[in-house]
Amino acid sequence: MRRWPGLLLAVLLVSGGVVYTVEQREQDLRARASAPTPARTTKPSRIAAAVAARRVAIDTILVRRAGAVQTGDEQQFLADVDPLNKKLVAAQKTLFANLMEIGFTEIGYSQAEERFNPALLKAHGRTTYLVRVLMRYQIPKVDFTPVTTELGYTFVARDGHWLLTADNELDPDLGPGAHREAWDLGRIEVQRAPRVMVLVEKGDTVRGRAIVRAANEGLAEVTAYWPLTWNGSVLVIALDQTDVRDARFADEDIESAASTGSTFSSLPGQDTADGTVAGGYIVINPNQRDHVDEILLSHEITHVVTAALGGYEPLWLAEGAAEYVSWRGIEAISGPAEVLKWEQEVADTAVPQLSSLPGDNGFYQNTTDVYGVSWLAVRYLVHRIGLGKVEELYEDMARNGIDQASRDRILLARTGLTEATLWTALTTYRPQR
Ligand SMILES: [Zn+2]
Repeated sequence: MRRWPGLLLAVLLVSGGVVYTVEQREQDLRARASAPTPARTTKPSRIAAAVAARRVAIDTILVRRAGAVQTGDEQQFLADVDPLNKKLVAAQKTLFANLMEIGFTEIGYSQAEERFNPALLKAHGRTTYLVRVLMRYQIPKVDFTPVTTELGYTFVARDGHWLLTADNELDPDLGPGAHREAWDLGRIEVQRAPRVMVLVEKGDTVRGRAIVRAANEGLAEVTAYWPLTWNGSVLVIALDQTDVRDARFADEDIESAASTGSTFSSLPGQDTADGTVAGGYIVINPNQRDHVDEILLSHEITHVVTAALGGYEPLWLAEGAAEYVSWRGIEAISGPAEVLKWEQEVADTAVPQLSSLPGDNGFYQNTTDVYGVSWLAVRYLVHRIGLGKVEELYEDMARNGIDQASRDRILLARTGLTEATLWTALTTYRPQR
């Protein structure tokens, strides 16, 4: 149920990359300024011409590959793949089949900046061209707008032709989740309902359909219990993989069953440091794929339907709202007694372990039940100002809660509480129907 570490990491890495580029550029400028004026030769312009020609050639390849996906032409998709790299050819066939199965309404690739790696230059020869590539796509109904993900491609020129010879050599230098989209992994299968799309391993049909049913129920619960009108479709990825997008299920201390990661219409660092969040995809922990139910998915789908609001809400509000929706579903099935019991437990055991509302830093590493405490905070606010006003608070926070001062101002204006007085209220909270 982790959501933000990936995004935060992405921001750090990408802004790190930007700083690096700027520093490099400044070094280049300084070096150029201090270098003696070169003798007049035609060499620099020849290099510039070669770089320009390469840019056009690679652009042409990228357009051809995107066109191949749009027309379903596998041969055209593979035409510029290095035939000597059999493993890559096989992987690209799988990729093509996956892309076809998803059925994008829009797909395009563009070159970002060139990256330099002496080891790769040595391995592939002097024509080696390593470039960060932006993939812009739109999955019908799932993505409201085209969204962007990044890749790293290695091209070499052979007999006057540019060939894609590797697609993973830049991966360690890209943002988290890059080249780990569902279609970048093994062969996938798509199971659909009108507002649900589930991606499973090829042949994992029965499980895929079960997850579609759970997602339908989860979506119905979010629609019933969270007063935000949302007419999108939910994408759930349930593969036999521990690393999908920015979800990392292998190296987490606290096991989580699923995670919702952001999609970006503009990546962090592309136009703004934070990027522009377009929505979210749900990824299921591979060892939890048999335990996906509407309780788990209603929590994650709450993240999905609120994702595009902006993403600046505090985590206690994001996780508290998701837990609120999920528990409303439980209440509908097992009655209010179960909820009262759990509220009492959180109030008796989790709240005394904290001295304030759980902050964003270390939220997901906290061994105290911060989900329970966040849920209690949202329950308290719903009793105090009503669910409709809590939803408005959420929207305002998500759009405008860019720093603590803004969050404080929004919380006070909309609830009459500060984080401190809200916390004090929770320490004396008594479960109420
Ligand atoms: Zn969550």
